[in-house]
Amino acid sequence: KPLLQLEKVTKIYPPSIRALENISFEVRRGELLFVTGPSGAGKSTLLNLIFGLERPSSGRILYGDLDYAHLRRRDLIALRRRMGFIFQDFRLLPEKTVFENVYLGLEVLGIGGAVARERVERILRRLDLAARRDQRVETLSGGEKQRVAIARAVVKEPELVLADEPTGNLDPERSREILRILEELNAEGITVILATHDENLLRGHHRRILVLPEGRIVNA
Ligand code: ADP
Ligand code: ADP
Repeated sequence: KPLLQLEKVTKIYPPSIRALENISFEVRRGELLFVTGPSGAGKSTLLNLIFGLERPSSGRILYGDLDYAHLRRRDLIALRRRMGFIFQDFRLLPEKTVFENVYLGLEVLGIGGAVARERVERILRRLDLAARRDQRVETLSGGEKQRVAIARAVVKEPELVLADEPTGNLDPERSREILRILEELNAEGITVILATHDENLLRGHHRRILVLPEGRIVNA
């Protein structure tokens, strides 16, 4: 049984932007799926739909047996807790420390105290951020910021990580490092969906690639 299933999903933003048209695919548990396509093809829209931030105009999204359309709001929020989201622009709290940014990711889930602190310390060591622990995020390099964002996403111990152009603001070397980290997490069993238009990231990987066609504007 796939972890995630999209069936004929279409997303139209008012009045007539066809961000996604009739997209169907499955993601198996433990898979690393690349999503690519030109700017405007709907990559972000697709990840937002999967995270439940947007609703499809038509079609179905299933997470295991759960049909998003039948979920109550609080169930959708519970589902979201099983996912980690990584953004191109990091979306960290710049004036807070590395530790605080990652810790807050757990606190919002109601996990606090020594258990949470230990989990944060462990992920910071893992992502080579221990030495930056008490530094404010705004003082870090781009690659370090993205590692903090990854730490914040995976400290939740999610089943699924959604990464939206996670290397968009990074140089090629830092980009490869971020990809390596995501591949490592995937090798440990986390399912990863990685949206990117970076050809260099896609090259040489024997992975499934979902290519979204150019977005279209409907003539109403
Ligand atoms: P990508 O991530 O591949 O660049 P997006 O999903 O960001 O593509 O955008 C797909 C299309 O939908 C674009 O034409 C974009 O302008 C439009 N779009 C995205 N989000 C919104 C929104 N919230 N409201 C209206 N149009 C949007
Ligand atoms: P609000 O208008 O309060 O922001 P939402 O539009 O996020 O609420 O959600 C309203 C209802 O739509 C909820 O029952 C929610 O479960 C459902 N919903 C939200 N996202 C999706 C989605 N991607 N697919 C299907 N249903 C959704």
